[in-house]
Amino acid sequence: MQRQQSIIEESLKAVMEDEEFLPDLKAQTRDQAYKSLVALLSTPNHIHKSFLRVALENGTIVRIPAFRVQHSDTVGPYKGGIRFHHSVNDEEVANLAKLMTLKNALHELPFGGGKGGVVINPKEYTVKELNLICKKYVQYFNDILGPDKDIPAPDVGTGEREMDWMMGEFKNIHPGEPYRNSFTGKSVVNGGSLGRREATGKGVYFTFRYMMHNFVKENKKWLGDTENIFAHAALDHVEKKSKIAVQGFGNLGSVAALEAYQCNYLQNKVVAVSDANVMLYNEDGLDIPALVKFTEDHDGELPKNEEELVECESKAEIKNRDDLLEMDVDVLILAALEDQIHEDNMENIKAKIIVEGANGPITEKADSYLADKGILIIPDILANAGGVIVSYYEWVQGREAQFLTEEEVFKRLYDKMKVTMDTILPQFFGDPFPLRQNCYIHSVMKLSTIMYRQGKLY
Ligand code: NAD
Repeated sequence: MQRQQSIIEESLKAVMEDEEFLPDLKAQTRDQAYKSLVALLSTPNHIHKSFLRVALENGTIVRIPAFRVQHSDTVGPYKGGIRFHHSVNDEEVANLAKLMTLKNALHELPFGGGKGGVVINPKEYTVKELNLICKKYVQYFNDILGPDKDIPAPDVGTGEREMDWMMGEFKNIHPGEPYRNSFTGKSVVNGGSLGRREATGKGVYFTFRYMMHNFVKENKKWLGDTENIFAHAALDHVEKKSKIAVQGFGNLGSVAALEAYQCNYLQNKVVAVSDANVMLYNEDGLDIPALVKFTEDHDGELPKNEEELVECESKAEIKNRDDLLEMDVDVLILAALEDQIHEDNMENIKAKIIVEGANGPITEKADSYLADKGILIIPDILANAGGVIVSYYEWVQGREAQFLTEEEVFKRLYDKMKVTMDTILPQFFGDPFPLRQNCYIHSVMKLSTIMYRQGKLY
């Protein structure tokens, strides 16, 4: 995530060079203020690390490394997921916490940024052991967590079940205190929000749909008159029946693919989807509802041979999983893992629009290469915020003990993302920076202003 740091620095530089920004900055020169802000935003407030002592069912005691990184509470309590993965380390968690600070600032959520991690492959543990690991996590970090301090959520390797367990343990440790909004991403029966599961995938597709159907269509004349290469990339696709490929068919990818399939505003065809096993391709468009139904009945996996395709009643060719990225499509939705487009495959990418559902699916080098070629990338910080936005509504609902309908949740989700898009898109199409940098500029402006107002630049 070196790219994240360099974009923060470039964005702060651009912001501080504008004399109209914080014109009454008195305590420091603009250069000093720039250096102070780089220092404040580059380092987390706290890195908490522990070794959870867990008794396995076979009688062995193990010590499992676990982290909670609290990057910034400038805007509000720390907020971010807990990842269970064997490759988790403090640097990765700290970078993800920083991304949360920037993402929450971009979407005007009243939260700072945090992230947690536990170094395990959850598939190697029994349900009882996982339950114990979740309880221990809360016990070890109990002092620093809470509805107004730090509110975790699910991430890779965790979900509703783990959040339910963790909230239960928090409630045990803090009897009589508010607990419903101590964790988000819980099951609905346990105080979770309707619509939370679909929120990220719906938000990912919404950013693409809103840009192409609403913004670009409504601003055709102005965009056509600009020299902006990204505006021309968008205009080239606005009336076209776009061919879409989706990498990853899990929680996020399957919902985004279904949204694309069902979208009446744009004439899309989802021609390719992939998961960890296969890629499925149909040049006339895949039957996404049938594939979603199949994965629901098959432990999340797409059909991976002819027999399973017959069972799914779906017409598709089975292809090599990794070829999806280089398919001749208009739009690529990346919804699987980090670092998927890199130095070795960036020159083969044919899509003209890429939507980042996963965090950091494009490496720094590939990102610059694709941006120079005029490929329009809707970045993670903008596209995949649906989960944390609905987490915010879950937090508010827990506070008020009043619950919204699913319809109300999605309406609020789209309203919030629309506000962000309406702020960012005119700037983006009006200047030469890629969309990622425009988003970062907006976030660091907000964070710098608040830090200044809170007296942190003295
Ligand atoms: P998930 O585990 O439900 O799904 C991941 C999917 O990717 C699975 O279908 C898996 O088979 C597939 N996959 C794994 N390796 C692959 C490969 N090499 N090629 C193609 N497919 C592959 O996870 P998710 O919740 O859908 O999240 C996907 C990504 O989005 C993660 O990186 C996550 O951090 C990020 N993200 C998720 C959310 C959320 O709310 N779900 C929010 C923000 C970011």
